[in-house]
Amino acid sequence: MPKAVRILIVEDSENDAELLLRELRKGGFAPEHTRVDTDKAMRAALAKESWDIIVSDYSMPHFDGISALNVMKQHSKDIPFIIVSANIGEEIAVMAMKAGAHDYIMKGNLARLIPAIEREIKEAKLRQKHRFAENEMHKLTGAIEQTSDAVMICNAQGIIEYVNSGFVRMTGYSKDEALGNSSRMLKSGRQDDSFFGVMWDTISLGDVFQDVFINKRKDGSLYYEEKSITPLKNDRGVVEHYISTGKDITEQMQTRERLHHLSQHDLLTGLPNRLLFNDRLEQAIPRARRSGRVLAILLIDMDRFKNINETLGFDCGDHMLQAVGERLLTSTRDGDTVARLGDDEFAIILEDVKHQDDVSKIVEKILRALSEAYYIDDHELFITTSIGISLYPNDGAHPQLLIQNADVAIHHAKESGSNKYRYYETKMNAQSLYRLNLESSLRKALEREEFFLLYQPQIDLVTHEITGFEALLRWAHPELGTVSPVEFIPLLEETGMIKDVGRWILRKACQTCKSWHNKDLGNVSIAVNLSPVQFEGSQISDIVSNILKETELTANYLELELTESTIMRNPENAAITLTKLSGMGITLAIDDFGTGYSSLSYLQKFPLDTLKIDRSFVNDITENKGDASIVSAIISMAHSLGLTVVAEGVETTEQLTLLQEKKCESVQGFLFSKPITEIEVEEMLKEWSKQSVFLDLVSSN
Ligand code: C2E
Ligand code: MG
Ligand code: MG
Repeated sequence: MPKAVRILIVEDSENDAELLLRELRKGGFAPEHTRVDTDKAMRAALAKESWDIIVSDYSMPHFDGISALNVMKQHSKDIPFIIVSANIGEEIAVMAMKAGAHDYIMKGNLARLIPAIEREIKEAKLRQKHRFAENEMHKLTGAIEQTSDAVMICNAQGIIEYVNSGFVRMTGYSKDEALGNSSRMLKSGRQDDSFFGVMWDTISLGDVFQDVFINKRKDGSLYYEEKSITPLKNDRGVVEHYISTGKDITEQMQTRERLHHLSQHDLLTGLPNRLLFNDRLEQAIPRARRSGRVLAILLIDMDRFKNINETLGFDCGDHMLQAVGERLLTSTRDGDTVARLGDDEFAIILEDVKHQDDVSKIVEKILRALSEAYYIDDHELFITTSIGISLYPNDGAHPQLLIQNADVAIHHAKESGSNKYRYYETKMNAQSLYRLNLESSLRKALEREEFFLLYQPQIDLVTHEITGFEALLRWAHPELGTVSPVEFIPLLEETGMIKDVGRWILRKACQTCKSWHNKDLGNVSIAVNLSPVQFEGSQISDIVSNILKETELTANYLELELTESTIMRNPENAAITLTKLSGMGITLAIDDFGTGYSSLSYLQKFPLDTLKIDRSFVNDITENKGDASIVSAIISMAHSLGLTVVAEGVETTEQLTLLQEKKCESVQGFLFSKPITEIEVEEMLKEWSKQSVFLDLVSSN
């Protein structure tokens, strides 16, 4: 099939033009043509249509080949231009070629015409393709230059061959500084060989590698670059270049790091939180396994921290926690982890310690540091702490067990008093299990009505009358039988259950006392023990007043027993609460007096009525002169402060006689009665009013 070609013939001779066309048709072309022979006509033809080739005569009456060439150039179209003319001589031919003609053919020898046209059309197409590619390239580089991303092209050896302005801005290196250098110039050393190993493995296989690089700028500062590196293959499929495009995400990373830090640290103290603590412990274990050195986990709990919050406010509590954190940090070494796990719970990982003895030394140092006075918001404060310790690997092979066992140890530390530490021992678990069981059945005891009260009479040593009873709690455990309050009250206090149980005790005691009054068994009073936990906060006076209303017991018949330590935990609060209770007409007694450290003169500040001398002093008064003189000192001082005295735990007539001599007002103890049931109380009251049981009891002993 003939090839279509559009040909513009610049020729004054119609015959010559026809000759040309014939030649073309012969050569397998189907020419479409226009013939022009003036400047104007040529311009019109160029403007009107697009041409594959221009064939021009050299000299014409009104036009010439060189001018025709110029017109074509002005038109700025790259159309192959062939001069076909009679012999014009070599010089002119060369000039025409220089001016831009693509070929020169003599009219007498048209045999070269067809190959020349074919060649020129082909070359023009090639030129056009190149121009297009160049144009594309130009646009592309323009775009690459303008993007804010850093673009870098390296050869297979990692030598930089191209960088854009984004690269210059991001790295601080000029193009000249970068080109010819190795891409390694950006390495910060923050990512290990394995990172770059994976990168090279990926890209040399021809795959794209994407990740965040921590790179170094010319000025040495680091930046995060989210980069993808694309391998560029040549025609044979061999990777010859890599193109890297990257975004500077330093700010995002910094925000992310800050968030990460926040998620792993305690806001208040800046110490690692439980999450990071667990993480660090996880990492410390294999290190300890390898080194064979001691790894200790310390749990540190502040006793009664809640009190500080409640009485001095949360700000003060916060400052206290910060101060504790600081003291823990200064008491430990740099490599150790000090963390805050919860409210007032801190933890430490001691690593790389030689002997367990050294752990004890560090722990003692910590306890000493924590027990020194804190000066916070104009207050001088002291705290006591308990520390539980577990050691790897003896006390557990994994973090959870180590923490759990340190927790078991801390409970034992707390039980042994304040500012104590205990190492975990296997036998603690059995005890803890017992406690755990006790605790879970204790939780159900109230609703299952397993609690009951016993009552122990108090006898006036002058009138010999029963003046009242102390209500004492018992727990009828379904399997263990009756459990002593000494065993389960601390548990009730620790778990906070004492608040509910305490309310039940108060109500039950008041109800029972009221029922004795209603039965005309005498106007006896009822003494109820209050736990320090019940005394915390400000609700106890409301609770008591509501229960009195509910049970219709007159306030005068209720006596509340508190220990010295209950008051001393928070003297300011205690003064307010006690004043309220006393104002309601309730009698207030200090229980177990002598076992605490408070001085009588200090207790004078509080509206107290009665002082109960602890059983441990009464026990020995007949044998131990020291105890006897302490008891008489207590009695006379109490009297001078206007307090009446009750002696607890009176078991013998000798003790009774001695107490009578010392003018002790009342006694309570097994000599008269063990704690008895409500029904037994009723019997006792009836008997007592009929005859002088007091003397019978005393003389029969
Ligand atoms: P407490 O308030 O000092 O109670 C006196 C304790 O001494 C009672 O022990 C009582 O049974 C015992 N006792 C009385 N006379 C004698 C005696 O002559 N010899 C001996 N050896 N012991 C005597 P109990 O009932 O085991 O209570 C122990 C402690 O448990 C109480 O000491 C009190 O602190 C606490 N408690 C008992 N009931 C309650 C309660 O309802 N609420 C609270 N918060 N604590 C309670
Ligand atoms: Mg008591
Ligand atoms: Mg007592």
